[in-house]
Amino acid sequence: MLTKFFQAIGSFFRALFGGGSDKTSTPTRKPVTNLEPADPMQPQDGSEIKPDTIVVIASETEPVHIEPGEQDIEFDPDTPEPPVEEDVEPAIPEPEMGEREKAEEESETEPTPTGHEQRFLWCLDNGHGKQTKGKRSPVFDDDKQFFEYEFNRDIVKRIIEQLEEKGVAYFNVVPEVDIDNFLEGRVNRANSKKSTLPKIFVSVHANAAPARSSKDWAADSIRGIETWYYHNSKKGQKVASVFQKHLIEETGFKNRHLKSRPNSQFYVLRKTRMTAVLTENGFYNNKLEVLELMKDEVRQQIADAHVKAIMEIEENGIV
Ligand SMILES: [Zn+2]
Repeated sequence: MLTKFFQAIGSFFRALFGGGSDKTSTPTRKPVTNLEPADPMQPQDGSEIKPDTIVVIASETEPVHIEPGEQDIEFDPDTPEPPVEEDVEPAIPEPEMGEREKAEEESETEPTPTGHEQRFLWCLDNGHGKQTKGKRSPVFDDDKQFFEYEFNRDIVKRIIEQLEEKGVAYFNVVPEVDIDNFLEGRVNRANSKKSTLPKIFVSVHANAAPARSSKDWAADSIRGIETWYYHNSKKGQKVASVFQKHLIEETGFKNRHLKSRPNSQFYVLRKTRMTAVLTENGFYNNKLEVLELMKDEVRQQIADAHVKAIMEIEENGIV
């Protein structure tokens, strides 16, 4: 009787502090560091949505009005994990991760390129190609114009430069420029990329607000940064929140918070079989904000924010 009592106390503390490798205690929630790669045969999500509904990049142009400080109505911190994720056995066990992390923290000085212990493979996606229709600002009087594909690639390039230095594992999903939207290709490449590390997909974009036409500027009031994650993905939501936090801190842009919808999801969030987020870094058809997005230092801030988010997750896992 008494033994049982102490056993119970023991598992209580193990549950509380996440220690021990006691396989007999069944935690209600899996340690979040045990990420996919999921079973390649399992889609991440809602296979009920037909492929011909994928034109959802249109949700880039959906008007979403959220006052500063307010939370999105779509933001539901209590969303349960989809059963698919729950059932997936972690393909890459991370034994003694807790101890290793502790040791890392204790000895943490300057991380060197060779000293960095890689935790994830970051699949960096730049969203669109040169041939993608639309995805450009109206033309300024002096013929200046913003092209989203160029912006996305520039940000990804700046991210990669830093990841190289830090020794973080990454995969540039679409290095080509002269291509179309190439949605399926992006997803297939990321999904079939072989990696011993769990993968995380990050799609980098700039946003567009509704306007009378592609030649017209949208309302000045629609501006800021938002990060999308796949509806129902707890891990996606956590990763997205880290990116959103750093993006707002670095840039000082308006916080449009996390976004996720059960319907009209981004194809790349829906079809990637890994934790996936999509950052929308400001509005290119907002006449004021696009001028910011054209500045070298603002682009660097946006890239730095992505890198900070990546490094935070590299260090702590998805917690
Ligand atoms: Zn885009």
